[in-house]
Amino acid sequence: MTQPVKPLLNQLTAELKAAGFASGQIIMADESRACYGYDATRQSADPMLVLLPESGQQVETAIKLAAKRKLKIFPRGAASGMSGGSIPSSDGIIISLTRMNRILEIDQENMIATVEPGVVTGELQEEVSRYGLFYPPDPASLSFSTLGGNVAENAGGPRAVKYGVTADYVMGLEAVLINGETIKCGNKCVKSVSGYDLTSLLVGSEGTLAVITKILLKLVPAPESVKTSLLAFPSMSAAALAITAMFKNQISPSTIEFLDHHSINAVRETLPFSLPAAADTVLLVEIDGSSTSVMAQSQKLKKLFENKALLLIEARDEGERAQLWTARRRLSPAIANLAPHKINEDIAVPRAAIPAVIARLEQLSARIALPIVCFGHAGDGNIHVNVMLDKNDPEQAQRGVKAVDEIFAITLELGGTLSGEHGIGNTKSAYLDKEWSAATIAAMRAIKQAFDPENRLNPGKIFPTPGSQPCH
Ligand SMILES: Cc1cc2nc3c(=O)[nH]c(=O)nc-3n(C[C@H](O)[C@H](O)[C@H](O)COP(=O)(O)OP(=O)(O)OC[C@H]3O[C@@H](n4cnc5c(N)ncnc54)[C@H](O)[C@@H]3O)c2cc1C
Repeated sequence: MTQPVKPLLNQLTAELKAAGFASGQIIMADESRACYGYDATRQSADPMLVLLPESGQQVETAIKLAAKRKLKIFPRGAASGMSGGSIPSSDGIIISLTRMNRILEIDQENMIATVEPGVVTGELQEEVSRYGLFYPPDPASLSFSTLGGNVAENAGGPRAVKYGVTADYVMGLEAVLINGETIKCGNKCVKSVSGYDLTSLLVGSEGTLAVITKILLKLVPAPESVKTSLLAFPSMSAAALAITAMFKNQISPSTIEFLDHHSINAVRETLPFSLPAAADTVLLVEIDGSSTSVMAQSQKLKKLFENKALLLIEARDEGERAQLWTARRRLSPAIANLAPHKINEDIAVPRAAIPAVIARLEQLSARIALPIVCFGHAGDGNIHVNVMLDKNDPEQAQRGVKAVDEIFAITLELGGTLSGEHGIGNTKSAYLDKEWSAATIAAMRAIKQAFDPENRLNPGKIFPTPGSQPCH
């Protein structure tokens, strides 16, 4: 820490303590601050101070005291973000929301949970299940990521195809603005059109507009039953046709995950069942709902595909269900064996464009001589694209960067978007103008300016800054 900063910090911490912060809520030591400077992108930076508020009031206090000194604020949840959203700068303060982790209310009558932002997603899901209720958004990080982080990133997961993403469940928010004032938006009403929809604006704002301190989440009745099936097809286009056929035949899966042939080959040997050699694409399909509806839809699925798919396995119990999911769950560690590093993007395209994207990515892979492994959420068009490479080889690293440029170009050409769920953060900000026109970005910047005129709240995220480089 530089010398001129020390007196400023000493004065600030004295004021924080006078306002009720305990010593354990203020982290100044170098080695402890370092624990708050990273996220899942493996970037790291050193914030000047870390605060662990335990109430909305304390968030207000911290932001007001920082405002007096024009310090930057970086909100942070569990730091599982995949786009660098919570990476701080050395002249900024981290506000970590993890101690605000109380489920404040489960309103069974209105089916709404009120939570603090630091509640871990899976913990809310478990708690509401005791009441026969269900919180559907299911990012794969649900056992550690926070609901505040999910709201800030508008997180999604495999169930998005039927249940939607986090945005579809946020009914209201309490949030602290960069001037330290708290705003409330939304409410428990199913219908509410009073004024601008600030709730929707804050969802997915990546910590750049306000610090979320309370969240109202819609719950739904828990499905009575769920049936999981695995289907293998000889080509991506055959799998895509199968998905269309499901919807046309009134089958409404809650999950349709896919594995391309690279993914299949990476996990094939580790699976508790055997996949046909000709399998090029695997679909993992889940159907949930009332027992009668699940049974009827599963029978239809079987009838439709038992002669068309190379393989159709139906899980008969929880054990078999877990076995089918091993194909998907073992993927990330399995593809890590293909190369020392990977560049991971989470593009999304309209569902029908999946075969075209995969075909174009195959061509790209051949051209740049690097494997590109694709898997993800076939039901909603969100594809995890992994360029496998050795970044220590400068020439390969260069090809990797070129590959990302082309992946985004192909995606946008096919009507897609840079990110389906991980957000823009600082890793993709240099590409924002490839997706949006200057006028659209200017409208976005005007919103940022209205909320944060001095650009002190999570700066360097979403918008390209002069000279900003893509970060892979
Ligand atoms: C193994 C793994 C699997 C993953 N799978 C998925 C997946 O399936 N789907 C998916 O969508 N994502 C996934 N992610 C990404 C990540 O988990 C999500 O983006 C998640 O929502 C981040 O939550 P977090 O609490 O870790 O937030 P952080 O990473 O700490 O922060 C993320 C962003 O939210 C902001 N933020 C956090 N809390 C607040 C708050 N209270 N107020 C304002 N801004 C705030 C931060 O400033 C930052 O911009 C995965 C990550 C990992 C490591």
